[in-house]
Amino acid sequence: MAGELPEVLAGIALDVGFAKRVTVRRGGEPRRDGRCVVYWLQRAQRAIDNPALEIAVACGNSLGLPVVAYFSVIPNYPNSNWRHYYFLQQGLHDVAEEMRKRGVGFVIRRPSDGDTLEAFLEEVGAAMVVGDENVCREPERWRSVLAKKLKIPFLTVDADVVVPSAVFEKSFVLLHHFRPKLHAQLPEFLKPIEKVDVSHEWNLKLRSYDLAADITLGFDKLDRSVGPVDAFVGGTKAALRRLKEFTDTQLKDYDETRNHPEICGTSQMSPYLHYGHISPLTIALAVRDVEARGKAGKEVCDKYLDELIGWRELAVLFCKYNPNYDNWECAEPWAKKTLTEHTGDKRPWSYSLAQLERAETHDELWNAAQREMVRDGWMHNYMRMYWAKKILEWSPDVATAFERAVILNDRYELDGRDPNGYAGIAWAIVGKHDRPWFDRPVFGLVRYMSGESTGKKFDSKRYIEQQRVGARSAL
Ligand SMILES: Cc1cc2nc3c(=O)[nH]c(=O)nc-3n(C[C@H](O)[C@H](O)[C@H](O)COP(=O)(O)OP(=O)(O)OC[C@H]3O[C@@H](n4cnc5c(N)ncnc54)[C@H](O)[C@@H]3O)c2cc1C
Repeated sequence: MAGELPEVLAGIALDVGFAKRVTVRRGGEPRRDGRCVVYWLQRAQRAIDNPALEIAVACGNSLGLPVVAYFSVIPNYPNSNWRHYYFLQQGLHDVAEEMRKRGVGFVIRRPSDGDTLEAFLEEVGAAMVVGDENVCREPERWRSVLAKKLKIPFLTVDADVVVPSAVFEKSFVLLHHFRPKLHAQLPEFLKPIEKVDVSHEWNLKLRSYDLAADITLGFDKLDRSVGPVDAFVGGTKAALRRLKEFTDTQLKDYDETRNHPEICGTSQMSPYLHYGHISPLTIALAVRDVEARGKAGKEVCDKYLDELIGWRELAVLFCKYNPNYDNWECAEPWAKKTLTEHTGDKRPWSYSLAQLERAETHDELWNAAQREMVRDGWMHNYMRMYWAKKILEWSPDVATAFERAVILNDRYELDGRDPNGYAGIAWAIVGKHDRPWFDRPVFGLVRYMSGESTGKKFDSKRYIEQQRVGARSAL
């Protein structure tokens, strides 16, 4: 918690775990003549298992005020395109429906129509603002800027991780350094979020962008060359459907099938997690429930949770505490040294960004992965590792390789522009969260993956064929 809680929160019986999620961006007392509490929804685009929303409702109840959730459709969100907005808009329908059911107002506005959050706070007479959190550079900047401008309390809530990242206060070099600290916290945080009943329902009709219309209408600068995908439908409902399907039928075999890109053996929760359509807590508790009912073994459930909580929250900490999270300067000293020593190594193949983007390489397995990402907005984890390592091998230098991987990943993946993406690219290209391996050309001590051995670990012929004929990867 970064500052003193305003008195309004002191009066609320906040669960200890909840209190640890809160950062006071601006303290002080709520506006006395305030007419509502505003929940500024940005990262956690859902009304279920959302601690930021629950805190907003608790504040509203304590002040005797209704709550209204506000969503701003930013026209030039960094590296976004039509594909991302389309998925986001699908999710907003579910948010609107769930907020209505809970008695919370929901308003969508667009800065491009002349609407700003500050103007909205004035319009509705906000007593205080509660927001969610996002460790990525630009959205974090929005929160800091708002905190400086506001004269009412502004709290943010770390709503999209199981264990609030402030608990750790630093990033970790390796997962096995982080894991024991994480596990020590799980009893406190891996438990259901208490839903707070709304005591003062929202009943005002406010102007809101009509979701029947495309939310990107009039966004002249939006990149429309990357369009919506068939493979995924956005929103909490779709996320819960997919989660049920995964936990009912696939989780029990996750350990065996997770490294088979030709099989739908992973949860495909990443796009939903990225947009906050589902909470990692909802997923983790569903997995624990399946385990408790004996439908999947402890070992396989632990393995899945190690990815969902261990690797994912390691990535969040990496971005939170490393300002160079999206460029090669984030490398550990050993990796910087070895990659610099190998700068001048002759590359076996060399491709431009445009050739990579069009999947025009000599390597059919790599091309298949690139096609999967361009078409479906998602690529299998095993292929992501291979994909990024080859970009290092075929680019003029490590800085360019990192940059190209970020451009392509952020552009095409539905789950791109996410701490996991930056950490994944850093893992593959500069050995982040990995250890030194054996010295070899171009990679130095950074772990290498060869096409030959990667292709033998699963039915790569089938995977290549699937991507050629345009099979959807899932859902
Ligand atoms: C080069 C590269 C780029 C990547 N880019 C992204 C990205 O842009 N966005 C993204 O969400 N993930 C990214 N990842 C991590 C991982 O590949 C995806 O999270 C995973 O493939 C998503 O599929 P899933 O939901 O079916 O995963 P599952 O295997 O079902 O795992 C469940 C959840 O655990 C988390 N998880 C799984 N593997 C990892 C991992 N290695 N690191 C961190 N979290 C993990 C994810 O949140 C995932 O949704 C990248 C990895 C690499 C190597």
